[in-house]
Order: sequence, then C-alpha cells, then structure tokens
Amino acid sequence: MSRLTVYTPDDAEIVMERMVQEMERRLAAAPPGICPVDMASVFLRLCHAQTCGKCVPCRIGLGRLGDLLDDILDGKGDEDTIELLEEVAESVMDTADCVIGSDAAAMVLKSAREFEQDYVSHVEEGHCLGTFAAPVPCRSACPAGVDVPGYIALIRAGNPQDAVRLIRQDNPFPSACALVCEHPCEPHCRRSMLDDAINIRGLKRYAVEAAGDVPVPEPMPFTGKKVAIIGGGPSGLTAAYYLALMGHDVTVFEKQPKLGGMLRYGIPEYRLPKSILDREIETILSLGVTVHTNFEVGRDGTLESLKKNYDAVYVAIGAHGDRKMRVSGEEATGVVPAVKMLRDIALGKPVDLKGKRVVVIGGGNVAMDAARSSVRLGASEVSVAYRRRMQDMTAQREEIEGALAEGVDILELMAPSKVEQDDNGQVSAIWLKEMTVGAIDASGRPKPVPSGAPDERVLCDVVIVAIGQDIESGFLAKDGIPCSRNTVVAQDDLSIQANPGIFAGGDCVTGPATAIKAIGAGKVAAFNIDLHLGGQGRIPEETICIPAAIPGDLSPTGRVNMRERPGSERIHDWKQFELNMDFKEALHEARRCLRCDHYGSGSMEGGRLARW
Ligand SMILES: Cc1cc2nc3c(=O)[nH]c(=O)nc-3n(C[C@H](O)[C@H](O)[C@H](O)COP(=O)(O)OP(=O)(O)OC[C@H]3O[C@@H](n4cnc5c(N)ncnc54)[C@H](O)[C@@H]3O)c2cc1C
Ligand code: SF4
Ligand code: SF4
Repeated sequence: MSRLTVYTPDDAEIVMERMVQEMERRLAAAPPGICPVDMASVFLRLCHAQTCGKCVPCRIGLGRLGDLLDDILDGKGDEDTIELLEEVAESVMDTADCVIGSDAAAMVLKSAREFEQDYVSHVEEGHCLGTFAAPVPCRSACPAGVDVPGYIALIRAGNPQDAVRLIRQDNPFPSACALVCEHPCEPHCRRSMLDDAINIRGLKRYAVEAAGDVPVPEPMPFTGKKVAIIGGGPSGLTAAYYLALMGHDVTVFEKQPKLGGMLRYGIPEYRLPKSILDREIETILSLGVTVHTNFEVGRDGTLESLKKNYDAVYVAIGAHGDRKMRVSGEEATGVVPAVKMLRDIALGKPVDLKGKRVVVIGGGNVAMDAARSSVRLGASEVSVAYRRRMQDMTAQREEIEGALAEGVDILELMAPSKVEQDDNGQVSAIWLKEMTVGAIDASGRPKPVPSGAPDERVLCDVVIVAIGQDIESGFLAKDGIPCSRNTVVAQDDLSIQANPGIFAGGDCVTGPATAIKAIGAGKVAAFNIDLHLGGQGRIPEETICIPAAIPGDLSPTGRVNMRERPGSERIHDWKQFELNMDFKEALHEARRCLRCDHYGSGSMEGGRLARW
C-alpha cells in the first residue's frame, strides 16, 4: 500500500454529506414562530456533536450549557439559571481552543440576550412568548399575506378564476406580482424540507393567464367618506382598491401622466409589459376610483388643502430622488441616474445609447434593469461596477444571471473614484478603485475596503448611477409630516403621529423596497383608514370554496422553473423574456404543495378566517 493515495470518500461520508444538505434545507425553511430557547438548545447539541473533545471548555462547557438550557425549558430553572447560563457561555467563549466551542457559546449568549423575555417567560410561566399558532410558512412570509395554499389548491382543481379572486383578497396586483414579485414566500416553503420550494410566483402567473378577465367584487354600500391618495404606485393603488371596496369615495393624485409608479416608470417592459399593467390598473379603477394624473401635490395642490377636503389622506409617494456617487466629475454630461434613464424609456424618450460604452454603478435590481435596458438600447459594451462581490449583490440571482446571459460584464469589488470628462464636459472614462473584502458589516456581508492597488481607468461614454433612491419629501416636511433619514416616519398602523387622518406607507416609509411590501402597506393602510373612518376594516365577502386538502405525495420531485427566451434573441427586443408554465407543469407544481394550511398545524386549521 502506497504512503500517498488518492482520497475517495467512503459511503458513510457520502451519506453524512447528504444528511447535512438535507438539514441545511430544513433549517433554511424554518418557519417563523419557533421557540428561540428550544432552537438554541437544538443548535447547541448540533455544535456539541462537532467537538473534537480535546479542550475542556468545549467538551464539558457546551454540555453544561445544554443542561442549563434543559432546566430552563423544563421549567426547573429560575432567573439565576439564566444568569449562570450567560456566565458559562462567556467563559466558554473566552477559553475554548477553537471556533467549534467559542462560536457555539456565542450563539447561546446571543440567544439569551436577544430573546431575554422568552427565557424569563420559560422560567416564570413554563413556556416561551410564542403563540403556538404555527403559521402557514408561505402565507406568513408574503408581506401581503396571500393565501398561497388556497390558490394553489384552486389551480389544482382547475379553477384559476377563483384562484385570482382569492389572491385579490390580499393583493390587487396578481398579474404584476406574477411577473416581478421577489417571492419572499418561497424560501420558507415547507416543501424545501423534502426537495425544493414550490414555484409560488410561477403558479400565480399560470393562474392569472389561465383565468383571463376576472371581475372585481361588488363594493360595500357607500359610506359618504372621502379619502385622498397621494401617489398612484402599487401602494397607493392597493389602498385605493380596498378603500373603494369598503364603500369610500377614493381619489388618487399622481404626478406622472399614468398610474403604476415604479411598476411603470422603473421596471422595464421585458419584465412587466405595460399592457398587462394597464389591464390590472383598469380592474382596480373599475371600482369607481377617481384619478387626477399630472397632478403633483406640493406643486399643483397642497397637503393642507387635501386635509381640509378629505376625511383621510394616504401618502404613498415612493422613493424617486436619485443618490449621488459623491466623486469628482459627477456633473459631466453622460452621467445619468438609473431611475431617470428607466423613467425616460417608459415615457417614450429613451437616452440614445447606440454604439456607446456604458458603465452602470451599483449592485441591486435597478442596476441590472439599467444594464439590461442599455443592451436593448444598442450599447456596444455594458459593464456593471459594484464595490462588493457579486455574491453580495442585492439584485436577485435571476436578474444577475439574466444580465450575464445578455452579455453584461460584472466588475466585482470596484468602486467609482472619479469621472473623467473631455473638453466638452462629456464623460470619457470612469476611474474605479479596486476593493477587497473586510470584516462582516451590519448587513451581514463583508465590508469592501480599498485594496491599495492603483485605480483602474475604464473608457466609457455613459455612466448610469444606480446606488439607491431617496424620497422627495420637501412638501411633506413643510406641512409638519415627520421625516427622518429621507423616509416618512409612520407608526405601525401607518398613521402619522400628531396628524390625525394622515397615513403613509410603501417605499416612502421603508425606503426603496419591493412591490409586494408596498402592496402589503397599502392593505394595512386601507384597514386602518377604514377603522379611522368608523368602519371595521372589512371587504365584501366572496364565496370561494377552497378544495379539501389531499395528502401530498412525499416522494422527492423536481421543481418546475420558469424557462426564458435565449439571451441572444431577447437582447434585440423588449418582449417578455420569461415564458409561462403550461398546464401539465402547473399541475405538477400544484400537486407538490403540502397544504400546510391543513397539515403541520397550519394556523388556518379549523377554517379560514373570514377576514384579514
Ligand atoms: C428599476 C426598478 C426595478 C424594480 N424591480 C422590482 C422587482 O423586480 N420586484 C419588486 O418587487 N420590486 C421592484 N422594484 C421596487 C418596486 O417597484 C417599489 O418598491 C414599489 O413600486 C414601491 O411602491 P410605492 O407605491 O411605495 O411607490 P412608487 O411605485 O414609487 O409609486 C409612488 C408614486 O407616487 C407618485 N408621486 C411621487 N410624488 C408625488 C407627489 N408629490 N404628488 C403626486 N404623486 C406623487 C410617483 O410618481 C409614483 O407614481 C423596482 C424598482 C425600480 C426602481
Ligand atoms: S405576492 Fe409574492 S410573496 Fe406573496 S405569495 Fe405571491 S409570490 Fe409570494
Ligand atoms: S408546501 Fe404549499 S402550503 Fe406549504 S409552505 Fe409550500 S406553498 Fe405553502
């Protein structure tokens, strides 16, 4: 036998590797509402199983921490037990030889400090602060609370119309979300414990396209109350939809020529065709909502006058102000904010990029949209420069992959340092500073720090800046609406302190976020405005029969992903790049749903709540 041989993992190692991967999936799908003390105890045991056993703090100390956690969980402990737990954790952190012990102890300490009230509740009351409701994972992760298992069951039963009706009870933008929602519901889908998450967004797309036109419900009797909405983006229009259903007289004031906000003036046609958006908005307006477009509150009217003439006002102005790079030469001709560039395309007056070299600065979805739109506008070269690594980009993976497939270059760990201009003040190059990874920052990603290498000169004709947006809040601040760090300060119910009847939500409160968050805010605003106006926050009830749950097939099966048109073809047009599922694929996907509204103690068990 040779002293040096090729290493081949044995069967046990392969099985263990698979078990770890399965456990990773299970942890990633952990639903909200789990007892944090229980989780800390389980995680600690997992860490303890990894100890090499050589150092006492790890071998004995972690065991001791486990015993203390058991005492707390079994109701045998008291406040001294929690104190002792923290002392032992600190001691293991300080004395363990390696990260196996110190990191496990740090996790216990963090849990005890972050969830202090749960620990105290365990020793005093014998349980954590959780409600034990075990919410349906996908529904609770959707910011609008869409009844996902319900609509999937209706698709499976061959009833896409009712699926759309059901979605609209929480989200009046099923078609837009079917195309662009970032689907925060999917990472928590319980199916991923078995194989892979259900393609929830894809099924929504199948439902809206299979259903065709689905009329809105009959609104409730007229209340005589008037509500003004400033901003006709997804948040404002969601509030308008539900308030109109509740019987109120709703008027939307929108500064652009058309409604839709960033869905129209940000997201490009190839991802969300305007004809689909138009149809969705027409459906919302069919409830009798009044609209004043080309009306900018602050310029064509004041908040004060709206306050006088309406019983409530919802401010949903989004975040449309561009952020500066703060580098020299930024004022050069050819440096364009991404939101302006995308808005101009939507307004039918695109910037001329034919044969030009374009550098986009940023790493979010807006940067990807600007880069992919530049390709379609005929730019000869398109690069995206980002100060962090590609894996740290906030853009969705599909967007990054889409850009790469369309020939966009991504320059990782490159931050702008100077814009160079020619004698006419036109951009001629951008200087990029090379960065390297530093310590993990508050966002959980490595902070980019200059590497020390000389700056790099990249020749270009246009620089598109996509590094975030601010709100244009001047007119609000003048009228006493509290604004801080470029966002409107609203309370949890979206009312504005010391301004009765005024509510605010969407991007202008959260900062640039997502369509579904803005829609969720519009729904919350409608509910609370209705309460403010003397209502009960109810929308008309519709009879939608959710099919009974059928036990799912638990054999692992593949997920149907959305197909795309080839990159080489789609760069020449603005047609939708993503293709829909067909009936067979939708049925396959719908059958994979585990109906967590019934199985696994979903909190809908025993009947769906009639109301939000
Ligand atoms: C390029 C781009 C791509 C994006 N891609 C996605 C994506 O793929 N998926 C996703 O979920 N989200 C995406 N988003 C984010 C999403 O579009 C926003 O989070 C969402 O539109 C915010 O909704 P909102 O109603 O709060 O604001 P907005 O959509 O910004 O709407 C606000 C409206 O208020 C109007 N307004 C502003 N000031 C006034 C005033 N003084 N008077 C009257 N009207 C006024 C504006 O004209 C606008 O129509 C993207 C955003 C951008 C910019
Ligand atoms: S709207 Fe978005 S988050 Fe909500 S269920 Fe649909 S895809 Fe998921
Ligand atoms: S399996 Fe179905 S019900 Fe369960 S989380 Fe996933 S989509 Fe929701």
